[in-house]
Amino acid sequence: MLRPLRRACFGLLKGCGLAGMVASSRWRQRRLIILCYHGITIEDEDQWRPQLYMPQPTLRERFQLIRDSGCVVLPLGEALTRLYSGSLPSRSIAITFDDGGYDFYLRAYPIVGQFGFPVTVYQTTYYTDVAKPILNLACSYILWRNAGSVLPPAPSLGWNRPRQLSTEQERESVVSELLAFSEKKGMSGAAKDELAPQLAELVGFDYRQFQARRILQLMRPEEIHELSTKGVDFQLHTHRHRTPDDESLFRKELRDNRRRLQEITSHPATHFCYPSGVYRREYLPWLYQEGVVSATTCEPGIASPATDTMLLPRLVDTTGKTGLEFEAWLSGTGPLLARRPASLSYRSPSR
Ligand SMILES: [Zn+2]
Repeated sequence: MLRPLRRACFGLLKGCGLAGMVASSRWRQRRLIILCYHGITIEDEDQWRPQLYMPQPTLRERFQLIRDSGCVVLPLGEALTRLYSGSLPSRSIAITFDDGGYDFYLRAYPIVGQFGFPVTVYQTTYYTDVAKPILNLACSYILWRNAGSVLPPAPSLGWNRPRQLSTEQERESVVSELLAFSEKKGMSGAAKDELAPQLAELVGFDYRQFQARRILQLMRPEEIHELSTKGVDFQLHTHRHRTPDDESLFRKELRDNRRRLQEITSHPATHFCYPSGVYRREYLPWLYQEGVVSATTCEPGIASPATDTMLLPRLVDTTGKTGLEFEAWLSGTGPLLARRPASLSYRSPSR
């Protein structure tokens, strides 16, 4: 449905009182809305990837709408137990953040603490220990900051001709080729992470300041530990933010992630979120066998007692949604007018 029409419908549903009736209904009480957030902007990341990043004031506005709407925010594990036992309170929601970036520590947690809402962070762990910007995102961001310029030939990075950086397609093509070049050369993870500063130097981007501000970096172990002691729930998102189709590699991703989280938080992690929202039916038995008790996607929807525990939908909240649309989702009327989210992804280097 066209966006203006969809917004008009949301307004109509609220104006005629139908949204309020749905929100208070027995139907809504038997359902759980799981919200999904990604990054909260440190500097200007929402200008670069508005579907991934949200400014801190917008997150505060969303949380205020949650409070004003009378929603009950439950910890994820409790919410799922009560969803399947039919004992949810009315207007239940759970709040999740994907990836566990430093921006969560710096920008999101202060808002979380202010409102006192329980939240779950699906924490990927490779870059937690490496303490460098996430490679493919860093390269993309650096080129975006230099949009319109021309990248000189750089045989050491895989291209022998000048590269235009005017369009997103041109910039993403450079990033893809750079990553493919690193794979072809069989570079180690450490060598791959050096490609971003080399790219930055080519376009005169201040990489040192970018790294110092910890843009596109994950939380470090001590930060995860600190927030865990303050009540933030850390759960599984794979070690390297990827889901190999090979069963043994898939299980290794889960196990590495779980072991590292257990070491850092001293809590067992049993809830999972598919990286980039990508899932296949084949993954489900592997997840069960690894003792995972729930898995969330990025499919828009509201969970009911009939929802598969390994295919739980979420509302991916972005700046593209108006406050009215967000309220519609909280009431339970949002799915009537939903559209599919854009794909969201980052990759850690293969080792
Ligand atoms: Zn993710």
